[in-house]
Amino acid sequence: MSAQSNTRMPTLFVPHGAGPCFFMDWNPPDAWNAMADFLRNVARTLPARPSAIVVVSAHWLEPAFSVTSGLQPELFYDYYGFPPHTYELRYPAPGEPQLAARIADLLGQARLPAQQDAARGFDHGMFIPLKLMFPDADIPVVQLSLRHDLDPQAHLEAGRALAALRDEGVLIVGSGMSFHNMRGYGDPRFGPISDQFDRWLVHTVESPAAQREHVLAAWEQAPSARLCHPPRAEEHLLPLMVVAGAAGEAAGQRIFADRVMETTLSAFRFD
Ligand code: ZN
Repeated sequence: MSAQSNTRMPTLFVPHGAGPCFFMDWNPPDAWNAMADFLRNVARTLPARPSAIVVVSAHWLEPAFSVTSGLQPELFYDYYGFPPHTYELRYPAPGEPQLAARIADLLGQARLPAQQDAARGFDHGMFIPLKLMFPDADIPVVQLSLRHDLDPQAHLEAGRALAALRDEGVLIVGSGMSFHNMRGYGDPRFGPISDQFDRWLVHTVESPAAQREHVLAAWEQAPSARLCHPPRAEEHLLPLMVVAGAAGEAAGQRIFADRVMETTLSAFRFD
């Protein structure tokens, strides 16, 4: 990466694994290796060092869009039943209250009322992937919540409202999973099911921008959509809507795919 600049940033949708999976033993031991390597290599593919990072986490849902506005948000270990050392992981990235205020303002102008939350910490949808992507934790981070109605159109619009930030060197990262059905992980029957949805997702992301948004907004009609993201539980897909909206006219492409626990998982980039 070159020095920080106002180079226009791409937007990214990355998988964040399962809880603190990259920082503990797993069975099989190599289950998450390819994803971890992918995340470790993302930063060097960027045109410059980001001036700040906005993470849209699948693990934060609020009635209205909300942004972390604390100066130094604490980590929020929102996973359960994992080894004790995973509750001591550190990621001391600073917040950026001014950027949080700007985001709330941009969303408000787009008729998407937004709240600033100075007390909210960073959840594992942020610090697990960012520990691999930006291990120095020296770039300010603001987290943006999803809206709990999970309306895909509203999330595309929220992304569109934030597109201008990309020209200020802000990297917008959607942190979720392209497949997220807890009953499907580890079940071989979900291999072809996740493949079918993944093919649709890749085709959609890689189609022309104008068309892309319409099709993403109607994602429930995709093949096997609800087997891959069960009803009222599509929060791991929705960060993709925000980054696709923020992409504007930028082209989308799949930049990673792997089979993990019998299911296909992908990452996308728009630039
Ligand atoms: Zn998750």
